[in-house]
Amino acid sequence: MRAELMMIGTELLLGQIVDTNAAFMARALAEHGINVYFKTTVGDNVERISAALETALSRADVVLCSGGLGPTEDDITRECVAGVLGRALEYHPEIYAAIEARFAHMGRKITENNRRQAMAPRGAEIVENPHGTAPGLFVDDPKGVVVCMPGVPAELKPMLTERVIPRLCERFGITGTLRYRVLRVCGMGESRVDALMGDLILSGANPTVGLLAAVDGVTIRIAARAESPEAADALIAPVAAEAAARLGGIAFEDRGRPVEGEVDALLAERGWAIAVADAAAGGAAAARITAAGAACFAGGVVLPHGRAAAWAGHPAPVPPPPTEDLGDPLARTAVEMAGRLLLDYPVACALSLVADPAEKRTAGAVRTPEGWRLFGLGHYGSGATGQTRQAVIAWENVRRFLVGLPAE
Ligand code: ATP
Ligand code: MG
Repeated sequence: MRAELMMIGTELLLGQIVDTNAAFMARALAEHGINVYFKTTVGDNVERISAALETALSRADVVLCSGGLGPTEDDITRECVAGVLGRALEYHPEIYAAIEARFAHMGRKITENNRRQAMAPRGAEIVENPHGTAPGLFVDDPKGVVVCMPGVPAELKPMLTERVIPRLCERFGITGTLRYRVLRVCGMGESRVDALMGDLILSGANPTVGLLAAVDGVTIRIAARAESPEAADALIAPVAAEAAARLGGIAFEDRGRPVEGEVDALLAERGWAIAVADAAAGGAAAARITAAGAACFAGGVVLPHGRAAAWAGHPAPVPPPPTEDLGDPLARTAVEMAGRLLLDYPVACALSLVADPAEKRTAGAVRTPEGWRLFGLGHYGSGATGQTRQAVIAWENVRRFLVGLPAE
């Protein structure tokens, strides 16, 4: 079965919004073993949408459209689908009533425009939209199946996964269950992860392997379809093991929490708490561990780069410094900061981060009852994103130290 995506909206062509729907759709379909061979982006224009739809139907079994279902004049997807499939547009009072009820619930008054959203090509199945006003459409035509979904991501995503994909599986006889496992890698760039995964990321394979990069790490999603959950898990296991091996053991199972959540769990196992001194990431390290709801966070201090050394002072040598060569003044400052933290806070662990913007260098140190670990935070520029990256690398280094992996 061949599927094709049609992304509708002039703002996509103008670069005013990023087409996140297409990525989501492609990924969700791939996981279900539905092959996507083309994706077209087209503006809000009847002739061009109709022509693109004709072309798509000439080579695909299913065309999935995103956008243009709203109430305004430039929302013309319905008209185009009706035109291309030679079906009349019919008014559905029950859709109108549902929209009216939704508006009443939100304390808003329905406008005449909303009648447009109650129109559907003759014979179309109406796909409920619990998250918005415009329902989706599923038209099973001899030319092919056409699915229309609203452009708003919060409406499209659940509609696709909860309604459209199950309907497509039913229509095209795709059986079995889908299971997946997600691995997470922090402190390694997406292109590097991608290069290591290489041939595992094959389109149409079962299991499928997909990467998703975010500022707090790359997730590797391994999804398999099989007749039973056990059979799907059996397909996933060797691929997950291979992926983990290629990543040199630094991937961890994604339990729906960021790396700070992993650190919190590891510290909790040992009954330890951690204090943080941050003279690199503007407080991002503490912000992230508290955002993860961590119970292990004991407090700390945020400093400008230039104040780090003075704040650290020359604390008593409790705990003993690491055996590594501390000739590097920045590493020395990081160690002294951690030492000062352990004097200020009655906890087992300390994490310190420091940057030298002039030299474009960073250093971090973590001290636990098991010893010291020194590391770099990389230099990722400034701004909130740079601070987040540094904080993630710091926590990833703490995690690696706690699980006995070598430093980055
Ligand atoms: P509405 O009822 O809100 O008008 P619609 O089905 O007509 O929904 P559009 O008007 O095309 O959809 O888009 C509505 C909003 O959804 C856009 O302003 C944009 O913010 C978002 N959006 C649309 N298409 C995409 C896309 N491909 N990727 C991400 N966001 C999108
Ligand atoms: Mg619209």
